[in-house]
This record gives sequence, C-alpha cells and structure tokens, in this order.
Amino acid sequence: MEIVSTVDELRARVRAWKQAGQRVGVVPTMGALHAGHLSLVQAARARADRVVTTVFVNPIQFDNADDLTTYPRTLEADARLLADAGVDVLYAPTAAQMYPPGFATRITVSGVSEGLCGGARPGHFDGVATVVCKLLMQTLADSAFFGEKDFQQVQVVRRMVADLDLPVEIVTCPTKREPDGLALSSRNRRLTAEQRQAALALPRTLEACARDIAAGADVAHALARATARLAAAGFDPVDYVELRAETDLRPLDAMPATTTRARLLAAAWLGTVRLIDGMPVPPPA
Ligand code: AMP
Repeated sequence: MEIVSTVDELRARVRAWKQAGQRVGVVPTMGALHAGHLSLVQAARARADRVVTTVFVNPIQFDNADDLTTYPRTLEADARLLADAGVDVLYAPTAAQMYPPGFATRITVSGVSEGLCGGARPGHFDGVATVVCKLLMQTLADSAFFGEKDFQQVQVVRRMVADLDLPVEIVTCPTKREPDGLALSSRNRRLTAEQRQAALALPRTLEACARDIAAGADVAHALARATARLAAAGFDPVDYVELRAETDLRPLDAMPATTTRARLLAAAWLGTVRLIDGMPVPPPA
C-alpha cells in the first residue's frame, strides 16, 4: 500500500488505474480505524478493482474545540490495518493542504442537514459536505462507501451528490457492532470501563423502543420513555431520540401506514464522549 498526502500524487495513481480500465472505490474516514471502517473497505474491494482510503480529521466539521483536540489520531496503526485489508492507496492530507490560506467555500445542504446532529452541532454538516465534496473531487472515484451508523450524514452526502451532479455512486454499508450490541466508533476508545458498560443502554434502549413502536405504542410516549431510560443509564445530555423517515429524514409522529421505512435515531453524551446510533423500525405486522 502506498501512502500519499497530495492531490497530485493521488490523482496520478487514480489516472493510471482508470487508463487501465479499472474501477476505483474510495472510503472516506477520520482514522482511528476499527472493524466498522474495515467493513467499508471490504465492500469497496468487492465492488471496485482499486481502493483508496482517506484519513483526515476534518477540523471544519467539529463544533467543539475539545472534541477536535481529543479526537484519536493513530495513523501508523491505521496504515497497518489498511495495508492488511488490501487497500491500494492511503490518502492522508494535512489540514493546511485541504484548507490553504484563503480557502473560502462551504457547501450547505439544506433540509436533511437540519435537526438531529445538525441541530445539536451547528455547522457540522456544512463541514462534512465540504470535505466529502473535496475528497470525491480529489479522488475521482467511481464509488464511495459510507456507514449507515452516521445515517444523517449519508442522506446529506446523497443529496449533495445528486444536487451537484457528482459522477460517483454512493454505497451505504450496515452498522458493525461489538458482540454486546454497541456500535463500533472511534470515540468508544475514550470511554472509561464504567462508561463503556453504561453505553450499552444506547443500542438496548433503541431496540426496545423500536419494538414498542412496531407493536403499536404511541410514538411520542415511546420516544420520551427511551430518553428517560438513557438519562437513567447516565447519558447527559441526551441530544435527541427521534423517529424519522429513512428516505428524506422527515419527522414521523406515528408509524407511516404506507411503505415508508422508519428509523429511530439518537445521540447522547457519556461524560465528554458523544455517541450516536440508529435502528430501523420494522413496519407493523
Ligand atoms: P468516521 O471515521 O467516524 O468519520 O467514519 C468513517 C466512515 O466509517 C463513515 O462512513 C462512518 O459511517 C463509517 N463507520 C463508522 N463506524 C461504523 C460502524 N460501526 N459500522 C459501519 N460503518 C461505520
């Protein structure tokens, strides 16, 4: 695996592959890699001849300076994992390369960026859309792979790609979890042993809430119960627990009678660590 840090080096590799008729997949990440990221790499390998993984802790998507400073950075270990996983090129630009002096453009995707994490983290999705657009244009990959764990992010990226006619296929991959159900996240490594135990309440509460709603429970009551359960487990604050339509993230105050698929989405803090998760709610039998 080659490690490159400039757009010119990256484009030279991709150009040569494309000239040889090969399909290119890209997996954008912020590093501190785990099996969730590697499942995206596997999906990319299955669909493309060549795989680029990007590792870039994007400063403009952090609304909280402490979160940016403490975000885990493990480039050497990441490179080893990616080489073992069969990645062809690791692209790891610096912040100065991505945002040189004078950089002045922001991409705002309205609608799907609003509320949920966009409400709790002002400017977050502008930062995400801007960096993902840059990474897609820098790589010029045929397909790009994103995790369903960041469900709102995928909707933001899909909307942006459609609206800007970016010539790339967006592929969404399922959430990888620990054996006990906690969604893998780079932030999990900042949890104390006690917080790690408490964190389990997030997937368990969402599962129970999804079951209750599918069984016909009143949605507002079920969401309030889930919020209270998370607070009782030690989450403080609970940013949101909401039921949304999977297609466009519109809020649902009842299970849709149509074929619209519904998803529970939540974000909550344990100490200084913010965790997010989501689950589909099966339609009523
Ligand atoms: P991040 O490094 O957290 O920005 O994540 C990079 C990509 O990996 C995003 O598309 C995430 O949705 C995806 N990802 C993160 N955690 C998981 C997980 N547990 N399962 C599947 N994909 C994930």
